[in-house]
Amino acid sequence: MFTMRKLLRLAVNQSTEEWSSFCSGKLKPLFLTQFCNLRWQTTASTVTSSRPKDQSSRDEANYKARVDLATTYRALEFFDMGEGICNHLTLRAPSRVREEDVMLLIPYGMHWKEVTASGLLGMDFFTGEVIEGDGEPNISASCIHRPIHNARYPIDGMTAVLHTHQPYTTTIACMKDPEPFKIGLSQNSMRFLNKIAYDMQYDGFANVSDEGERLAKVLGDKDLLLMGQHGVLAVAKRACDAFDNLYYLERAAQIQVLLMSSGAQGMTAPPEVIKSVADDDCYEHNASAFFESMKRILANEKPNLMD
Ligand SMILES: [Zn+2]
Repeated sequence: MFTMRKLLRLAVNQSTEEWSSFCSGKLKPLFLTQFCNLRWQTTASTVTSSRPKDQSSRDEANYKARVDLATTYRALEFFDMGEGICNHLTLRAPSRVREEDVMLLIPYGMHWKEVTASGLLGMDFFTGEVIEGDGEPNISASCIHRPIHNARYPIDGMTAVLHTHQPYTTTIACMKDPEPFKIGLSQNSMRFLNKIAYDMQYDGFANVSDEGERLAKVLGDKDLLLMGQHGVLAVAKRACDAFDNLYYLERAAQIQVLLMSSGAQGMTAPPEVIKSVADDDCYEHNASAFFESMKRILANEKPNLMD
């Protein structure tokens, strides 16, 4: 049972991570939710005048996260995996104006080709208030992404949530099959062994935070959520890992769709082969190298990415 004295002590003394964990926990009485929001609203409106002592390192980390997220938007667009001004990618970052972290994302109406590091918004994880930058966030981005960040970050330090309607993956998500993505068909598919959760109950546009909380539960501890008749969502500790997973998922999905379109029968690798590919330790290193190569390519195309 939480008394008001205990709540006040939590609000004053807990670190950001501990408070995030507390607020995203299983305790759901209305007064607790309101109290959590009050703490964050109060913090957001007052700390702008008292920047933390380690602010220069936070500024540096904030800028790095902004460059990483801008690169992710542009790189997915580069591979034709974006969809106009819709779909959203978000990344946790230390704030440049307060002690608590913010969720970086693009303002509503910005095309993925236009994204720059400085053009991103920073949003409060609990209230949805814009703390950094100018512009309005998309309501779906706020409703879906914040609950997923709040559910996973305290558990495994996940900082990136990427949602796309990338075409081949979405084609597979539209198939009437409880597990439509075929692991073991191609080498690219095998890395996703036990990494994908399925939500095959499409229920219209997601404009309420309840939908984000529901999706967080369906996602569980997986890296990817295939969303029936909709698209895909990837989470990871680093933007480059989530991007890498989306890229290779789309390539594997492309092979599956092309094979199915040909009418030919596909092969499936033996379970021990699939497991050995999935367990290989190359993925994180490859993801970093791939992401850095995309930064160079994209910065050469349009140097304002880093602005
Ligand atoms: Zn969507």
